[in-house]
Amino acid sequence: MQQQSPWNAYAICTVTQPGDRPASLTYLDGRPDEICSGFDYFFWVLVRGDEVIVVDTGFSEADCRRIGRQWNGSPAELLARIGIDAAKVTQVLLTHAHPDHVGNLHEFPNATFWIQQAEMESLAGEDMSHAFFRHAYAREDALALIGLLYDDRLRFLDGDGTFAEGVDYALVGGHARGQMVLRVATRRGPVLLASDAVHLYEEARSERPFFVFQNMEEMLAGYRTCRRLAGEERFLIPGHDKLVSRLYPPARPGLEGLIMDLAEDPAEPQPAS
Ligand SMILES: [Zn+2]
Repeated sequence: MQQQSPWNAYAICTVTQPGDRPASLTYLDGRPDEICSGFDYFFWVLVRGDEVIVVDTGFSEADCRRIGRQWNGSPAELLARIGIDAAKVTQVLLTHAHPDHVGNLHEFPNATFWIQQAEMESLAGEDMSHAFFRHAYAREDALALIGLLYDDRLRFLDGDGTFAEGVDYALVGGHARGQMVLRVATRRGPVLLASDAVHLYEEARSERPFFVFQNMEEMLAGYRTCRRLAGEERFLIPGHDKLVSRLYPPARPGLEGLIMDLAEDPAEPQPAS
């Protein structure tokens, strides 16, 4: 196949957790006196000419405010700031179905959504009979996704493959049964959108287990898979690390910390662990 031009890739921060968070709400082995950086909550968009692929749809405003996070704007509002009309988006990839990744589905009324088969089986199957697993999901999200299925707007991916030229997906599981990561060809090289297979740079470096998971063994293996797929840490994009907002340049002046250009190298070296 003829090589096409690379993708532009942007991380968009819809929600911010001000300040710090307890390590016990980050790592399973977080010590009581240990503090971690608060989270940024991203979704991502890939753009190549007229092609647009949205990756996840962020937290809903109601969920964000309920847990005391800072609301930066809805996906449609933030996409408009880089000239993308959410109503015209036709393809949305969902990395997994936790509430901070599948809110705002209604903002993409003309999209077909793609999710790993394993994630829907988890969402609507025996996994959800366990309170620990169910706690990571939301009833209204599950119902919305099943609604999309019955509207013929939900499609399934199964394992690893190529979604579009220059956009490969891999099923890593672990954090969620159907946790998916994406490898995107950009002008600086292939960038790994790790979503919640790696929330934080430090999580992948230390392999400390995140406190929410579906399969511990797969989650730990997933840290190594993500590091292998990224190659170098400058190509690894964690799903919730505030460093992404700090290190990557804005898509346009005035969008600092809000819409980051992932096709540019990070502005400064990653801090040592
Ligand atoms: Zn998340």
